[in-house]
Amino acid sequence: MIEEFKDIMLSKEDSRYQHVQRIVDLLISSNSDLPGVFETEWVVHVVENPDINACALPNGQIFVFTGLLEAALDAHQLSFILGHEMAHALLEHTAEMNSVSHFLDFFFLVSLVIIWAICPVDSLAIMGQWIQSTLKKYMFDRPYSRTLEAEADQVGLQLVAKACVDVRASSVFWKQMEVLGTLSKDTPIPEWLSTHPSHENRADHLDRLIPEAIKLRESCNCPALPFPDPREVFNLTAKQLLQAPENAITANK
Ligand SMILES: [Zn+2]
Repeated sequence: MIEEFKDIMLSKEDSRYQHVQRIVDLLISSNSDLPGVFETEWVVHVVENPDINACALPNGQIFVFTGLLEAALDAHQLSFILGHEMAHALLEHTAEMNSVSHFLDFFFLVSLVIIWAICPVDSLAIMGQWIQSTLKKYMFDRPYSRTLEAEADQVGLQLVAKACVDVRASSVFWKQMEVLGTLSKDTPIPEWLSTHPSHENRADHLDRLIPEAIKLRESCNCPALPFPDPREVFNLTAKQLLQAPENAITANK
């Protein structure tokens, strides 16, 4: 991955790189009680790419695209996304995903052998294989991946709460993404087809987790959360934006 992005990585002198590094440093120092956090050598890479994306590998390599830096409105939102990605690495989701996938492959292989033993026609075996791989993709891989996303959101929120981040910014980020999707002409992918939960469901899930995260934040002697609640500010702004005459036709589609 480093090789792939080596020509478009920001230097350590770039202020955008330093911004991400400062946030990661804060998340590490606030969560140094967790063995996974202090045992991992976290390394930040910022990639010049307009995609709104980031990822953290189990070995601690964190990749952040500049598109995400532009999409996140403030350091609180960016902290949450980074916390979410670090949670994936800490929870070893890549390994978990692979082991479930290998188990399912084995299970389907055995059923394929049984089908072929009963009816040894090559075309039937080929069709059986196609049906199985399609079933696996839509019935297991994708919903399972969404479960891991929800888990990373929950743990990520705890990581940032301990760093005194405004945890309410987490759901605002995904609501922003939802509004952006509504305003753009792109048709959203139905949730069951996607490996990730829809932006709206994700924001709702985070809203349910936020009260617990606020309690955790308070127990870490963090300063009081600022007023007004960024979720209320966002709701008001989004309403005005969606009601603007130039957006009404697109938003009502
Ligand atoms: Zn994720």
